[in-house]
Amino acid sequence: MAADPLDLLDLDSLLSDEERDIRALARRVADDRVRPSVADWYENGTAPVRDLALEFGKLGLLGMHLTGYGCTGASAVAYGLTCMELEAADSGVRSLVSVQGSLAMFAIWSFGSAEQKRRWLPGMAAGELIGCFGLTEPDHGSDPANMSTRARRDGDDWVLNGGKMWITNAPLADVAVIWARTDEGVAGFAVPTDTPGFSAREIKHKMSLRASSTGEISLDDVRLPADAQLPGARGLKAPLSCLTEARFGIIWGSLGAARDCLQVALDYASTREQFGRPLGGFQLTQAKLADMALEVQKGFLLALHLGRLRDSAGSLRPEQVSIGKLNNVREAIKIARQCRTILGGNGISGEYPIMRHANNLESVLTYEGTSEIHQLVIGQKLTGLNAFAN
Ligand SMILES: Cc1cc2nc3c(=O)[nH]c(=O)nc-3n(C[C@H](O)[C@H](O)[C@H](O)COP(=O)(O)OP(=O)(O)OC[C@H]3O[C@@H](n4cnc5c(N)ncnc54)[C@H](O)[C@@H]3O)c2cc1C
Repeated sequence: MAADPLDLLDLDSLLSDEERDIRALARRVADDRVRPSVADWYENGTAPVRDLALEFGKLGLLGMHLTGYGCTGASAVAYGLTCMELEAADSGVRSLVSVQGSLAMFAIWSFGSAEQKRRWLPGMAAGELIGCFGLTEPDHGSDPANMSTRARRDGDDWVLNGGKMWITNAPLADVAVIWARTDEGVAGFAVPTDTPGFSAREIKHKMSLRASSTGEISLDDVRLPADAQLPGARGLKAPLSCLTEARFGIIWGSLGAARDCLQVALDYASTREQFGRPLGGFQLTQAKLADMALEVQKGFLLALHLGRLRDSAGSLRPEQVSIGKLNNVREAIKIARQCRTILGGNGISGEYPIMRHANNLESVLTYEGTSEIHQLVIGQKLTGLNAFAN
């Protein structure tokens, strides 16, 4: 019997039964709920985010690696496998889950007051409330330390002014975690999106991540009570710790997109004939397939190693997460492009998922730290020299 072409190293044997069960659950919801419609969502630039959130919430997939407040308390590896299965269907759908769980919920869970946690987390875990995470600004993406959004005290209240750009889920969010500069440094706020002065408009004309809602937020004298501030968040390291969390899911998710491309290319190469034989029978095609299978397996080993480290140590160092994100997203996008060539003209068609994955991975390459930023994180660790600013 031919080996599973996507698991030549028998890496499945490294997973526990429970991990395989959670993966099967995520694969099932991706197959049943996402795959049949995602090409249309992508083409139309819409996705039923609220319906999906409710379904994912029912299955315990939102904030699944957190504990309490209705969260599942799953392992990091189980969470990673879930991201992989969702992104094998579409990066936009995985982004919904990542932003909800690893950015918005994680920020409140880590830095919020007991009252903030009670108010927001159970509804977010159930998918009844949608959260977003506003760090990036029109003029400050890679350098959030220079953010312009300000929060000033007015009596006991806070008043926020500024703007956030490229914020996933913002147009339909119920709560926005907003990062702003105060006289004491960067602070975080849980902002109910019906607060006067808060508005979010959908960013149109995206050529990537089209089955995901992305918005631009305006904060125009948004007045908040003192207890909207996340009391545990002090300085930029608070939002950066949330990014480390979300990057972990991307390490796995990007691999899911790559795996899906490889699976499709493999199937295609075994049936499409040119010069009287299947494409897969040509040495050049086999070289492509072999190299891609290698990278998918190596990427999985890297993800699994980081997941096991996280599960045993409780956290990962930023440069460890940077190694995972840099490698797996960079390889995933190469694989998507290579698979595209195997499908020839059909590779550019929305009838197949490859071009959608390739386009989505352009966003994944950019958000949660671009490849260049991760190279700088690793470079700083290697040399002890900070090359960010010049
Ligand atoms: C679809 C999508 C969804 C997103 N969702 C969210 C979200 O939910 N919340 C959120 O806060 N943000 C979100 N983002 C924003 C994302 O995190 C930023 O786009 C990203 O951090 C890059 O910032 P920028 O676009 O301003 O690019 P810039 O920072 O302007 O970078 C442009 C280029 O310059 C390079 N560069 C920058 N600085 C350096 C340097 N020091 N050395 C070398 N090269 C450098 C970068 O690597 C990049 O190639 C999202 C983005 C997209 C596309």
